[in-house]
Amino acid sequence: MEFTLKGATVRLVRGDITTIETDVIVNAANSALVGGGGVDGAIHRVGGPEILKECRAWVAEHGKLPRGRVMSTTAGALPAKVLFHTVGPVWQGGNHGEFTVLESCYARSLALAAELGHRRIAFPAISTGVYGFPIDRAAYVATMTCRRFIVEEEGKIDDIQLVVYSAQDLAAWEVVFEDMVATMTGDPT
Ligand code: ADP
Repeated sequence: MEFTLKGATVRLVRGDITTIETDVIVNAANSALVGGGGVDGAIHRVGGPEILKECRAWVAEHGKLPRGRVMSTTAGALPAKVLFHTVGPVWQGGNHGEFTVLESCYARSLALAAELGHRRIAFPAISTGVYGFPIDRAAYVATMTCRRFIVEEEGKIDDIQLVVYSAQDLAAWEVVFEDMVATMTGDPT
């Protein structure tokens, strides 16, 4: 499933993000950037030890990476040019700034990719694992933020892949994605 807007394509893909060939892979990291379980663990396993080394050096210099922010390292053995690390919000019911922080993860990653001259990027479903963000709401934030970026920053990004892991998650994202495409019919943008 995909939509194209202002020459940029946003694709909903099911799979393992460590196998996605792109310019930027985004990692759903933790603030200490020490690696962990879920997608973070998979990325470090496949990408190799160079990534952790760079993360440790970055934290030693700058301190922990705040939620909603993004930093960049080598992609190591991953099939991408660079790897971004962003820290999503922990779901606490929705009234603790979770939506704003999640939006910031996507928006800042897209902005940094554009700033570094990268045109293709792949995101996992940030915060929807151990951080507990409800999948349908996360799908909405992710898709809407990508849509807004490609309209407001026209021509900077060509290809965005939203990579979901399970069949169940894919089904939830498809509903949101379809909804989004439906609202775009006749959209002057
Ligand atoms: P968070 O701590 O941000 O919630 P998790 O890694 O626990 O991060 O989960 C984020 C999402 O990544 C979940 O939907 C999980 O199913 C998914 N996921 C786990 N492994 C992979 C992978 N190899 N590729 C893509 N997505 C993955």
